[in-house]
Amino acid sequence: MKMKLIASMLILSLAVGCGGNTETKQSPQTAEKQAQPQAGAGGTADPSSKTPDQTPEQSAPAKPADQAAGQVTAPEKPAEQPASPAPQQAEAPQVLYTMNKIYSIVPKEGSDAPKKVVLLTFDDGPKEKELLTSILDTLDKHKAKAIFFVNGYRVKANPDLLTLIHERGQVIGNHSWDHIDLKKQTNEKIDQQIADVQKAVKEITGTAPKFFRPPHGSSNEHVKNKAKEEGMLFMNWSNGSRDWEKGYDKPEKVIASVMEQLGPGSNILMHELPWTAEALDSLLTQLKEKGYGFVDPNTIDTTVK
Ligand SMILES: [Zn+2]
Repeated sequence: MKMKLIASMLILSLAVGCGGNTETKQSPQTAEKQAQPQAGAGGTADPSSKTPDQTPEQSAPAKPADQAAGQVTAPEKPAEQPASPAPQQAEAPQVLYTMNKIYSIVPKEGSDAPKKVVLLTFDDGPKEKELLTSILDTLDKHKAKAIFFVNGYRVKANPDLLTLIHERGQVIGNHSWDHIDLKKQTNEKIDQQIADVQKAVKEITGTAPKFFRPPHGSSNEHVKNKAKEEGMLFMNWSNGSRDWEKGYDKPEKVIASVMEQLGPGSNILMHELPWTAEALDSLLTQLKEKGYGFVDPNTIDTTVK
């Protein structure tokens, strides 16, 4: 009798254990979905003054303004190692990569992670379900992860789309609340523009972003310090797809632009735009054919400057 009781208790506790493990894999904080982001910085802005959707980074060059000319374009020798995809750990990924001064992603010291990788990023969303779903589906098809740098006013308008990005296992970054030129703002306004997005994303997904990218690649020391203070890695980009520029609103143009600037560690800036979504499958195929893998943003060290 006693043995039987012990055995059934053991079975029961095993069953509970499994349930517990499953629980931890579910997306967090569904209860917090009801919490809407507060008006914050978005409350005072005139929506009509926003950068038009189709030209998100109009004033920004293909490469960030604060990159010295020639730094990025210096051709890097192709890595000799064979193509191997970036690691795709689902749980507690190791830190394998770090970002260098020109915003490219390089293996962390002591890591034997492949050099020949790119970081995929999509700015200025979340905007539209169909477009976003197309991008997410293509990323899944190629087992690729990306950072979606979101704006607070769009998160406020489309909280469900933010949840979608999170639930599909992609990474969310902070791109300020209003997509304004932060360099021209007061320190107080800068703080608000950054902190309000952290708060809104955390309320909806349960996790505050670990990456920050300033709109138009425009920043100053205060912006960089605030991003760090909020626990984020500040980054511009090293490979601008130019998908926001006039004349680049065609899939083949976007692909050609990325391929021209391609090098190991390319930090590729794209947007949630129709021609980019259309280009993505072919772009990722071509990158793989050239031997590039896709960095899982979760494996990038965000604790360094
Ligand atoms: Zn932007």
